[in-house]
Order: sequence, then structure tokens, then C-alpha cells
Amino acid sequence: MSLPKKHLFDLPEGVIYLDGNSLGAMPKGAVERASQVITQEWGNDLIRAWNTADWMSLPTRVGDRIAPLIGAPEGSVATGDTLSIKVYQALAAALKMVPDRRVILSDSGNFPSDLYIAQGLIGTIDKGYELRTPAPEDVLDAITDEVAVVMITQVDYRSGRMHDMTAITQKAHSVGAVMIWDLAHSAGAVPVEIAATNAEFAVGCTYKYLNGGPGAPAFIYVRPDLTTSVQPALAGWMGHDAPFAMEPGYRPAMSIERMRVGTPPIIQLSILDQALSAWEGVSMSEIREASIKLSETFIREVEARCPQAVLASPRDPAQRGSQVSFAFPDGYAAMQALIDHGVIGDFRAPDIMRFGFTPLYLDEADVIRACEIMETIFAQELWRDPKYQTRSRVT
Ligand SMILES: *Cc1c(COP(=O)(O)O)cnc(C)c1O
Repeated sequence: MSLPKKHLFDLPEGVIYLDGNSLGAMPKGAVERASQVITQEWGNDLIRAWNTADWMSLPTRVGDRIAPLIGAPEGSVATGDTLSIKVYQALAAALKMVPDRRVILSDSGNFPSDLYIAQGLIGTIDKGYELRTPAPEDVLDAITDEVAVVMITQVDYRSGRMHDMTAITQKAHSVGAVMIWDLAHSAGAVPVEIAATNAEFAVGCTYKYLNGGPGAPAFIYVRPDLTTSVQPALAGWMGHDAPFAMEPGYRPAMSIERMRVGTPPIIQLSILDQALSAWEGVSMSEIREASIKLSETFIREVEARCPQAVLASPRDPAQRGSQVSFAFPDGYAAMQALIDHGVIGDFRAPDIMRFGFTPLYLDEADVIRACEIMETIFAQELWRDPKYQTRSRVT
């Protein structure tokens, strides 16, 4: 048993962290790595570090470390930019692959930024594209031969409900549509076999379950047979076949590097690189098994101790990602009270208290302790305190 890897993380004393689905905990060594990059590579090597520290290949080297966690082969994952940008890249490239259709299909549970990016792109292209967002349970039926691209987030950020990647990808392909998976709440949370699904594109972020730190760059996967034919909409110089030839015309790299755009965030990428070391010797099936155990304990204990909270995630663990949500009318205040008492989760409007389970640095004792604290807050109605009512900018 190689879990837990708690000793590899720096968690503050007295905190039970149930928000690794939103911002992963800080891995030990992050400070040292960042410091080494800043003082040695940048401070001392200066611009030479692009070669001496091989900064230039860092985005794909890190991509190759993410690849096994999502079932992707080497050379199929690039990193950089934010997830919103990677969604844009994948969607723009996918639409070009099906030029005669005008429908983008997502679902109403998708993360707003993915939908906003689609709306913005539709406005930019201005060719009569339409975004359809049926209820998540109606997605399969909504995949018709009008659909150009199916763009779905596997694990719902609010409820943790999980889509069937195989069934949806097969349906998309059966009608001639291109498939994009957003793995924001999947990478490092649940086993994913992206290559086996045959989906054309996948994107995801690295500051959630992959612990890359706030603002860590996103990743994009392109199915290997398409690597040299996808047309990058964001034709930046770092995606050029020969960036330092300084040619006036864009010529995409003949590798996954064509999905790069501009200068990579080296310090942040280095921290992510360090964070990915925590996954060495860990299998995603082992993570999944541990995550289900933790979330089942959590649901059982919360339901027994806090009857006011109503489970807002699928009860069947096979239908859930690595998070559990409870609905409670005063959920915002209750979450503030919980955080004040050392249990950190988060809140999503209108009434969802959200808890993430990250077996790398969370064990059964943490979960039980969190439930005991939650029981006190609910039994004594501590959330009624006015100091928990004021909403911060980030919930
Ligand atoms: C977290 C998340 C995002 C955030 O995008 P950023 O550009 O990294 O801020 C986008 N989409 C989904 C599905 C997410 O879960």
C-alpha cells in the first residue's frame, strides 16, 4: 500500500482540508523548487536557463508526466495557459474538423467558463453556431447528426455526478461529431483512459487534484493521429515549428507543441513538476478505491450527525467523482463556520456545501474528525452567528 502520501504535503496544523478539488494542497519541496528556479536558474543563469535548465521543453516534459494519470501516451499532452484558454483551443480546432455543422453540444451542469468560452467563440466566428445545453441526463439523446462538437466535463463541479465517457464518446462518433472532454475534476481524482475512449481532445487543470498551486498551467490532450493535422486557432510563436527562425508566417510544430501558445510560466510549471512527483508509485485505481472509502464514510457520518443537510451528490459511488456535496439553505454560513473550526470545504451557489476527497493527503481519521466538527456546528446552529453571513468575493 503506497497511500497515504500525507508526508509529502505541507498541511497547516489544525486544518482538515476538504477542498483539494478546488485548490490542491501544497506539496513539500514546492518552496525549494521555486526557490531554486528563481535564484539559480533565473537569478544566476538568466536567459541562458532556456537552454541550461531546458525551460523550453518544460511544458511537454510536464505534459508527459500528466499523461499516465489520464491514460494518454507520451507526446500527446501539452501544458500552458489556463483551462479556459485550453477549452478555447480545443473547441476552435474541433469545429474546423466538422465544417458543415453548426451545433456545439454541452450540458447545463457544465462549469460556466466552458460555456462562456463557447459563447465567445461563437460570437467571434459569427457563422451561425449554436450552443445547446440540455440537462446532463439528456446529453446522450441530444447527440444528433446536427452536432459538430460534443464538449462535456466528466465530473460535475457542483454535485460530483459523473458522465459515462465511453458511452458519450461512442455516441458522438456514431453521428460524426468530435468529442472534447474536460477533465478538470477528473485528472488525479478518478481513473481516466482518454486514449481508450478515442476522444479527439481533452483538457484539464492542474491546480485542483494535481496540486500544481494557484494559477498552475492547464493541459491539453490531442489524439495522437491528429497531432499534426489539428489547426491551432491561437497561433503563437511557441507553437511554431521553429520559433527562433522568426519566420513571418505561422507554421505549426509537427508535434503536440503546436498546442503551445506563448512563453510558458516557468516558475509555476516547475512547482507543478515537483507536485507530480507525489504520484510516483501510485495507481489511479488505488486512489479511486481510497477516495470511495473516504466519501462513503463522510456521507454515512454526515447523514447520521447532520440530518438538516441533504445529499446533493449521487448516492452510488460509481456515479460520483471524488467529491461530495450537501445542500443546506444556509450552506454559505455553515461553510464559513466549518472553515472557522478548521474544516475547509467550499460553497457553490445557491445552497451547495462542497467537500473534496484527496486520498494522497487525507485519511479516514481526518474525515471522522471533520464530521464531528460538522455535527457540533449543526447541532448548536453555530452558523447563525452574523459573522458567518457576509459573503466574500470567493466562496
Ligand atoms: C476549474 C474549472 C475551470 C477553471 O478554468 P480556469 O481557466 O483554470 O480558471 C474551467 N472549467 C472547468 C470544468 C473547471 O472545473
